[in-house]
Amino acid sequence: MPTERASIADRRTRAAATLRERNLAALLLSPGADLFYLTGYQIFASERLTCFVLGRDGKATIVCPELEAPRAAVAAPDIGRRTWGETDDPCALVAALVQGSGAIAVADQMWAAFVLKLQVALPDRVFAIASEITRNLRMRKDPAELEALRLVSESADRAYALLRERPFAGRTEREIGRDLADLLRAEGHDEVGFTIVASGANGASPHHETGDRRIAEGDTVVLDFGGAMRGYRSDITRTVHVGKTAGREEQKVHDVVRRSQEAGYAAARTDASAESVDAAARRVIEDAGYGEFFIHRTGHGIGLDGHEHPYLVRGNRERLEPGMAFSIEPGIYLPGRFGVRIEDIAVIDPDGSARPLNRADHAFASVA
Ligand code: ZN
Ligand code: ZN
Ligand code: ZN
Repeated sequence: MPTERASIADRRTRAAATLRERNLAALLLSPGADLFYLTGYQIFASERLTCFVLGRDGKATIVCPELEAPRAAVAAPDIGRRTWGETDDPCALVAALVQGSGAIAVADQMWAAFVLKLQVALPDRVFAIASEITRNLRMRKDPAELEALRLVSESADRAYALLRERPFAGRTEREIGRDLADLLRAEGHDEVGFTIVASGANGASPHHETGDRRIAEGDTVVLDFGGAMRGYRSDITRTVHVGKTAGREEQKVHDVVRRSQEAGYAAARTDASAESVDAAARRVIEDAGYGEFFIHRTGHGIGLDGHEHPYLVRGNRERLEPGMAFSIEPGIYLPGRFGVRIEDIAVIDPDGSARPLNRADHAFASVA
């Protein structure tokens, strides 16, 4: 078996062991990152049910519509398949594959239309969510996954470096967003997920919808963008100013956010809690008097999903471990004025420290 198929099979072995530990009968996954992680099969969700069934004995089956069977066979040749025709009931097929007693874990994002039918087909079963089984596996990235994250992060870094050479003043956010999307693809992304271009007062909205505002000299512009390469996702934010010199408060706020991010990096170590990283980054912003303007958590895990465990947020006592990958992205948002955010993807190394996968310059860059 090629090494990639072997490591995916090993994930299924570990997932089945977790099913037994937790006394669950089966894991049922509809299309999404968990299904891809455990099978290597990537497919869009649709009204035709595709469901990966993993029994507590480790038996794995992909239930899929007949017309998708050729694709499933290519992507996951080592996993058994049960196909259904256009007039068959796929939920009955799934239910028949569930053996033994215990609860059923279903994909977090499985459509309600399927969950409700499965509950009818599997009466008297307790249903749980799949991430309780998969999160501990997916949080700890293996070397191949870390390499994929490094490559996609570096691709995003190159897109940012090239974007800075383009003119900003006089162009709309939408035009800059299109440039960013083109650059991400040119630099190796096979999917563009989002391109946030938040200029001037729009920067005070962390997830501003890139629009028709025309960028002007003197603006501060938050650029937050990412996508995927071979399934693994990028996510980076840099804040730039248009023109030679930035405003005094803009420069000050940028310095605070940068120090906050550095404090987050210093706190992110093996055995540190996820919430302690948030607290360390937040303290710098609070001490500078901007605490009320940092209106989101400090970061989120990343991998096959853009946002996944672990979340760096107050209340999350989960301990960081080598192989975990997450964003560190403090920001300050001044309503009606401007915003600043700096975001990198960090990974915990075997020596216990956090290493940035993004190497793009953190300075408050000047663009034309
Ligand atoms: Zn965000
Ligand atoms: Zn982001
Ligand atoms: Zn992010």
